[in-house]
Amino acid sequence: MYCPHCRILTVNVRCPVCLSRAVREPERGDWCFLAEKEKPWDGALTEILGQNGVPFLTESVLGAGLSARLGSSFERVRVYVPWERYETARELERGFFSNAYAPDSE
Ligand SMILES: [Zn+2]
Repeated sequence: MYCPHCRILTVNVRCPVCLSRAVREPERGDWCFLAEKEKPWDGALTEILGQNGVPFLTESVLGAGLSARLGSSFERVRVYVPWERYETARELERGFFSNAYAPDSE
């Protein structure tokens, strides 16, 4: 199921974030929450999505004014991808970040 308000996929009949019951089946073109990354990891993730032809949308978690005061190092970025590319994006993210954090595992 998909919460159009929070733009997340869920297996529940109720959104785990906003608790709304107004979830529905996801459709092509729905933006789905993929991951929340600290800078500069958001750039690494969006770069790899772009390289693989996956469109994405990013949204800063902190408001522009707040992140400006704290400095960009505190900024976190949420990355969304279209529902029809969500599985691809998940695999890319998992593959890339597991390599980044454990370079000796393979
Ligand atoms: Zn929600």
